[in-house]
Amino acid sequence: MNMANGECPECAGAVSLAPNTEVGEILSCPDCGARLEVRSINPPSLVPAPKVEEDWGE
Ligand SMILES: [Zn+2]
Repeated sequence: MNMANGECPECAGAVSLAPNTEVGEILSCPDCGARLEVRSINPPSLVPAPKVEEDWGE
């Protein structure tokens, strides 16, 4: 398996990256629920996803 774990920048928890994860993909931290953008795959690097102010129809 090529599962890799990134580290959540918010809570330092482990966030698993699926083998098909791509750079720029948005993941959710399973621990704190933060939205994280994949900055790189190898080594796994996660950064907080930019807050989107677009209209999502709320
Ligand atoms: Zn987290």
